[in-house]
Amino acid sequence: MKKILHRAWAEINLSALSSNIAAVKAVIPKHTELMAVVKANAYGHGDEAVCRKLAELGISWFAVSNLEEALSVRRICPDAEIFILGYTPPECAADIAANNIIQGIMSIDYANELCKYAEAPIRCHIKLDTGMGRIGFRAKDTYACTEELLPLFDKDKLLIEGIYTHFAAADSFEEDDIAYTEMQEKRIFDVYDRLSELGYKLPHVHCMNSAASIVRPNERCTLARVGIVMYGLLPNYPVELPIKITPVMTFKSVISQVKEIEDGDSVSYGRTYTAGSKRRIATVTVGYADGYARLLSSKGKALVHGTVCPIVGRICMDQLMLDITDVQEQVQSGDEVILFGDGEITADMLAYLYGTIGYEIVCGISKRVPRIVIE
Ligand SMILES: *Cc1c(COP(=O)(O)O)cnc(C)c1O
Repeated sequence: MKKILHRAWAEINLSALSSNIAAVKAVIPKHTELMAVVKANAYGHGDEAVCRKLAELGISWFAVSNLEEALSVRRICPDAEIFILGYTPPECAADIAANNIIQGIMSIDYANELCKYAEAPIRCHIKLDTGMGRIGFRAKDTYACTEELLPLFDKDKLLIEGIYTHFAAADSFEEDDIAYTEMQEKRIFDVYDRLSELGYKLPHVHCMNSAASIVRPNERCTLARVGIVMYGLLPNYPVELPIKITPVMTFKSVISQVKEIEDGDSVSYGRTYTAGSKRRIATVTVGYADGYARLLSSKGKALVHGTVCPIVGRICMDQLMLDITDVQEQVQSGDEVILFGDGEITADMLAYLYGTIGYEIVCGISKRVPRIVIE
């Protein structure tokens, strides 16, 4: 009997998640707490199962990108510390406070707006832009930046509990990128220290993402914001990390039909692929509407009975075709196909084939694909 009656599904392996957490905990400083980054539905893995497992593993800090995600995590983990990394519409100030959520503050204007709508005080961490160029108080000049931050401490609607920044290139081992990360690190601790001198000693300071947590763990950070490696993918494939991680998501589908085609026969829209000889072709019930990128047409590969098979022709909305000529075993309708996962084809490798990152692949697996949790 077939266990799963789906056309495409993502298996979420919770023991891989737990071994990845152990691997990260082994390299970050003992007193640095792991803040699990579970934005975008836990990078597409499903926040329900992931957060539950993380809580079971003793994780008490969670980071998300918006209020909706924060409320979802709050429902799953009633006692967790939940941190919104980016912008929340100030009109939602009351919901932030009512749900005991911590908000990142990126500018004075934003702080003012938030206070305007706040009923109860809002817990927050100050976001510094030390070189990412995305959001935050610009922190090139320690004194000027600190001056700009001081008015925040006078607001009775803000409870400032920390300061943080985000690295632009911590996943690179190029000399100038390492120097850039060191400069960013110096900037945040300079501001942190200056605030301390002025009497504002903040309980939390954090700057590490996955890459930094592993390659340059900083003793001074109270929290490490770890995302991608927890899911078993690399921040910058093919740059390896010095820890062993296992992909948590395995994306699978099934074969609907197997056929033989002849020299000159074409496959799929636009006739971009024409067989040069007799080939065996399998149609698979997955397509770009499932989040399997159309840009992988004639580039992607998938596993059929353990053999790597190339995609031929264009990927359709709900289907794609594989050349299974090299598969020794008999292949038939209903057979399982592994699109990526923990094995010969990872999300990182597929991403690399068409110029993106593993993050985008797992986040992009669409809503119609059920997540099947495996303990
Ligand atoms: C997404 C994100 C992270 C996690 O990054 P990874 O590379 O997945 O570890 C950390 N901090 C911020 C601000 C983020 O937006």
